[in-house]
Amino acid sequence: MISPQDFIHPEDEEARRNLEAIPGFATAVKAFLRLGMEQYYHGINMASKIRLSEKQLPELYRKLPPICQKLNIGEPEFFLEMNPAPNAYTFGDTRLFLTITSGLVEYLTEEEVNAVIAHECGHIACHHVLYHTMANLLKAGADMFGMLGVLTTPIQLGLLYWSRRSELSADRAAAAAMGSAKPVIETMVRLSGGSKSITGKVDIKEYAAQADAYDTLQESNWDKILQTAAIAWQSHPFAAVRVREILKWCDTEHYQQLMDNIKLQESGTKCFNCHQPIDVNWIFCKFCGTKN
Ligand SMILES: [Zn+2]
Ligand SMILES: [Zn+2]
Repeated sequence: MISPQDFIHPEDEEARRNLEAIPGFATAVKAFLRLGMEQYYHGINMASKIRLSEKQLPELYRKLPPICQKLNIGEPEFFLEMNPAPNAYTFGDTRLFLTITSGLVEYLTEEEVNAVIAHECGHIACHHVLYHTMANLLKAGADMFGMLGVLTTPIQLGLLYWSRRSELSADRAAAAAMGSAKPVIETMVRLSGGSKSITGKVDIKEYAAQADAYDTLQESNWDKILQTAAIAWQSHPFAAVRVREILKWCDTEHYQQLMDNIKLQESGTKCFNCHQPIDVNWIFCKFCGTKN
């Protein structure tokens, strides 16, 4: 089992603290909860999407439970939506639901679809979903629900800034649950350039280097202003930046240790004295020193 402390990105936590400190934010959250968006979305889901289950497209449904188990979260409701654009999203507050689009299933390999589901489950594990739902409403045009009055510009920008940072945590969750950054990165490559038949031979290092090129772009002040304006209203960081971030993280000792711990847990062998998961090759338990 992997816990959010293992993968939450420090910039996510910091952006969340800053967001929650913006005057009027707590009021905006309360106003949002009063809208009853959960019932609204639930109705739309039930009426227009396919709810996946053991009885409905079980091959697709069965991708979800093992990932939920790994990330130690309850199972959200799981829907398939007809949409040629590859996408996935999780909304709700107390009753969460995860939607994947038909385009996602068509565009990506099985493993890549799993990585996307793990990314979404990472958002659930980090308790991102309520604020994400708010950010989405904002992008869809908050006016429709009369929320514009409470969502001031600083709150809107703060929400989107945090939303972009939160993606980095969810990418880490996916790399942790999948045991490798590879499917996470490949997903980003496909979403940037098209399906595997086109992007199968993309050079990942070259692609990640685009993020460095992007940074040097911003050395002049005017370029910086242009790029800041380009990203400010986006809910996601640019894909090349995400690839570089996840490559960096998976290179750390922390990630290696996390992978080793997961392997130990999954091996099912436990110390008879302290009951910690142990490696069958250890003569002495590394936790309590007992000979096993
Ligand atoms: Zn996400
Ligand atoms: Zn022990």
